[in-house]
Amino acid sequence: MPVAGVDYPGTWQEFRGWFATEDDCVSYLARLRWPDGFACPVCGGREAWRTGSGLWLCTSCRRKTSVTAGTIMHRSKQPPSTWLALMWFVTAQKTGVSALGAQRSFGFGSYETAWAMLHKLRRAMVRPDRELLDGLVEVDETYIGARSSGRAGRGTDKMMVAIAVEIRANPNRLGRVRLAYIPRASRDSLCGFVSYAVAKGVTVRTDGWNVYGPLTKLGYRHNAVNMSASSDPAHIAMPGVHRVAALLKRWLAGTLHHHVSAKHLDYYLDEFTFRFNRRTSRRCGPAVPPPRPASDEHRSPPARRPHRRRPRPGPLGLGATNRICRTCVRGGGGGVG
Ligand SMILES: [Zn+2]
Repeated sequence: MPVAGVDYPGTWQEFRGWFATEDDCVSYLARLRWPDGFACPVCGGREAWRTGSGLWLCTSCRRKTSVTAGTIMHRSKQPPSTWLALMWFVTAQKTGVSALGAQRSFGFGSYETAWAMLHKLRRAMVRPDRELLDGLVEVDETYIGARSSGRAGRGTDKMMVAIAVEIRANPNRLGRVRLAYIPRASRDSLCGFVSYAVAKGVTVRTDGWNVYGPLTKLGYRHNAVNMSASSDPAHIAMPGVHRVAALLKRWLAGTLHHHVSAKHLDYYLDEFTFRFNRRTSRRCGPAVPPPRPASDEHRSPPARRPHRRRPRPGPLGLGATNRICRTCVRGGGGGVG
């Protein structure tokens, strides 16, 4: 398990110490990318020289490789130090950073630059092979955005978001969530969401809407709560999904301050999922292998391994959510969702 202060900086002071120069940032990324030492993407060669421009020159095929090639930083005009600092601010703050906030703080020339960088980070926040939800899972839908037709409930033209959340023995402590934008409500789309998010054999609690009818056939134990027959209001019969929906709406309104379009809604849902699933964790994400001293074939001196210390929550009590995730820098879908 990655350790704050060892595998990733645990505080802003540590961050500044670790990443004082551009070369520090590139060396850190190289240790994450090639934990077992350099591997040429063309010939698989294991030996390389660092060039003066910060590239790796394969001694077998002479191909030059950038440590950021194929990652979300690929061909970015912003240097790795800016990316790492942005990752720090995005993950260290409970509600994240808006594009306008990032543009002002970093002095980006345009709003679009900040927006595009944040969008790439959101894409890296969810791991494609993440584990399915387990235990007892509540599934319901909520509606996001402005309403124009005047109709409410399931007849609205707001954007439908499906929510699945694990219910723990202590109902005040919710487990992990999964969210997805559902452009067209149907049996296929909503049961498809359950299949995508929830492990087979699990008990899935929904309301009595008939679109969830096929869940038993799909291998779930379906617990349909008939809301109209129940004397309890929906937030008591299905407390988990209602809490998640309320938090999602508050977060969207508070952080983004702008209209969320259907085109980009899934990215914001990924970021919300990332934050929600880490809200109480002291540690985060897939194992980041400990930084390994650069091997002899690299011209740069081996980085000093920081003093090991006990894991502890990051600033703002956010736990290890403030770390830089190995897969974030790889770009192929990262983080733990
Ligand atoms: Zn090569």
